[in-house]
Amino acid sequence: MSGLEVIASQESLMVAGLSAHRSLESLSRLAQQWRPPWVVASDAEAAAGYNWELPAETRLLTGPEGLEQLAASDDIDVVLAAIVGSAGLRASWAALSAGKDLALANKETLVVAGSLITQLAKRQGCRILPVDSEHSAIFQCLEGSSCQAVRRVILTASGGPFRTYTREQMEEVTVAQALSHPTWDMGPKITVDSATMMNKALEIIEARWLFDLAPDQIDVVVHPQSTIHSMVEFADGSVLAQMGPPDMKLPIQFALTYPERHPGPAARLDLTAPLQLDFEPPDNERFPALQLGHEVAGAGGTAGAVLNAANEQAVAEFLQGRLRYAEIVPACRDVLRHHTFDPSPTLEQLLRADRWAREEVTRWTHT
Ligand code: MG
Repeated sequence: MSGLEVIASQESLMVAGLSAHRSLESLSRLAQQWRPPWVVASDAEAAAGYNWELPAETRLLTGPEGLEQLAASDDIDVVLAAIVGSAGLRASWAALSAGKDLALANKETLVVAGSLITQLAKRQGCRILPVDSEHSAIFQCLEGSSCQAVRRVILTASGGPFRTYTREQMEEVTVAQALSHPTWDMGPKITVDSATMMNKALEIIEARWLFDLAPDQIDVVVHPQSTIHSMVEFADGSVLAQMGPPDMKLPIQFALTYPERHPGPAARLDLTAPLQLDFEPPDNERFPALQLGHEVAGAGGTAGAVLNAANEQAVAEFLQGRLRYAEIVPACRDVLRHHTFDPSPTLEQLLRADRWAREEVTRWTHT
């Protein structure tokens, strides 16, 4: 939705296609409103059972193949990839393979297949433009700087709803508690990830690939106000930060209009009222996901696919009441430790590792 608001505000942007998985009513309504050449319903079964009313000029594609076909279509210059989870990987891959720039909100694309995806983008001469707010901030701070001049990047984290919880309190966390985020309004999966700080772990891995950094060049600082979206520290000690109210419209717009900047619908920073910026180091004891993020960023290979899939499955089990909140990260760690590491997998092998990790978590949950 934020993406469409941005597009509506920019004369240079048009919608060539829209996709949804099962939210077919919204998709149908948006198709009526935007009249794009294409819509994709990626759940083919749900699409087959739906009573479509589409504008005459709009063609319907279904299934994961439909997403790949849309991403590669001639009508398109840039693909805004915002599917949640590793389900978004194939469409990102198809977009880059077809020579499209990729505005990437789906961090799993890089977490799962960072090495292959960045090589593919390079080979194809395509840009990967980060939409994740932290990575957009780093990208903006890096403008015009050579990578050798970067000492480290500092990802800011809101700390989520359990920032001040003790370990004992975390044992008792319910689904409703995990789904209430203090500063960002997001879907259930990413909200739980933000509570466990697995979201930040995935962002460490994402940053490693996006900016070609060593894991020890990526730090995390807890910043509850989510006003600074991340920072870059340069060799001379200077630190640049990018600021704004928490609003995804800004990173989306920057990715879609890059390298230009135009007026847009994003919320503005209000400095007429007192503004407080707090920072604290993250507590790795209470948030063990961060350690996993650094480990996996260093390991590469199949590790990202396994961590990501294990987490997706563990969060799904938690949301359905089959796994306790405090077990999400330990389940991921166990699955990661038990997997047969491959340092240079193909895309197929990554997808196989993804499936294996999901099955392992399901087994973990049911024993
Ligand atoms: Mg983020």
